[in-house]
Amino acid sequence: MASSTNTFETLELKNVGRSFGGHNALVDLNLTVRAGEFIALLGPSGCGKSTALNCLAGLLPLTHGEILIDGKRVDILPSEKRDFGMVFQNYALFPHLSVEKNIAFGLQMRNLPKAEITRRVADGLALVKLQEQAKKLPGQLSGGQQQRVAIARAVVLEPRLVLMDEPLSNLDAKLRLEMRTEIRRLHQSLGLTTIYVTHDQEEALSLADRLVVLREGQVQQIGTPEELHNNPSNWHVADFMGYRNIVDLTVASVSGSLARVSGHGISIMATLAQTAAVGETVRVAIRPSDLVVLAPGESPQGRETIEATVNVVEYQGREFAVETTTTAGQNLFVHAYTALLPGSTVQLSVDPARALIYRSSLEKTGTRRELAGARS
Ligand code: ADP
Ligand code: MG
Repeated sequence: MASSTNTFETLELKNVGRSFGGHNALVDLNLTVRAGEFIALLGPSGCGKSTALNCLAGLLPLTHGEILIDGKRVDILPSEKRDFGMVFQNYALFPHLSVEKNIAFGLQMRNLPKAEITRRVADGLALVKLQEQAKKLPGQLSGGQQQRVAIARAVVLEPRLVLMDEPLSNLDAKLRLEMRTEIRRLHQSLGLTTIYVTHDQEEALSLADRLVVLREGQVQQIGTPEELHNNPSNWHVADFMGYRNIVDLTVASVSGSLARVSGHGISIMATLAQTAAVGETVRVAIRPSDLVVLAPGESPQGRETIEATVNVVEYQGREFAVETTTTAGQNLFVHAYTALLPGSTVQLSVDPARALIYRSSLEKTGTRRELAGARS
């Protein structure tokens, strides 16, 4: 299949918002997407991901803001005039139409010549490797095959933007991994621009060039997988990015970008990812893989250690996921490369650069109104 000819330079979302009655499902989404990018919208259930996607698709009118392609408003266009392809979680195939007729449907709606439709359907079937299933009905296919039909149906239209809403969440784990690779392959080989909604951080990190993390309708952070992985902007993003240990500690002293934090049987140096004052209660985020279990007699190289008792050891192939408890009863999750004995005492240490200090509150400073006033 030819790569999409119908391209653009930039897609801009400016202060896009949507409320339902008094409830703000999406607030001030600002994002510029470059052609060819793969963007993931990531966040827990109810954070506004589908709302954002449906606003883009034209299935929901905006209550605030505008959407522009190369400077021209598209949010005022009806859905079918936007020239976007949609792939939904539930596939939304026509049950009474064969696979090839499902794929042909959108092309027929565009009144394309018959030969062109035949060619594009054949290309689409080959693309998702469903040539053998062309005459079958959706009900005769597996979930993964149905999802591939839904993807083929969207991409044969050569849309300028592909929107996918949790397209893999109804598939089993193995198929989910296969289809993930498939989606990234199609994105690259067809030169698509894709906006992909998921609540699965691993899926988002592995697929996307950039991620948009949402919480309660508000953008928390936009960045590359590396940026989000290494430098989450607040504890909520850290939590989503696999910083499984989020511990409330008190700032004992501050020196430059480091601070001593203590409480719950812990006293360590950590990095100020957000500013905090002495005496303040903060959230310290540490990944299990950054908590090092010292071998008996091993020197912590000048760092303080945390004494903890091993509770539960789970074998995970290459490593062990271990739940420990500090002397003051705080659970800490660590990764170990040898099997630890439940009930034994271990010494843990962490590089201060990998223990990140965040304010407990997620509120931005200033109200929305004040921020809006400051911008204008
Ligand atoms: P997500 O896709 O991230 O799970 P949604 O965008 O579906 O979240 O929903 C965001 C919020 O908006 C939720 O609180 C949801 O209940 C609400 N919401 C979504 N659609 C509607 C609707 N049609 N009417 C009323 N509230 C809605
Ligand atoms: Mg949703």
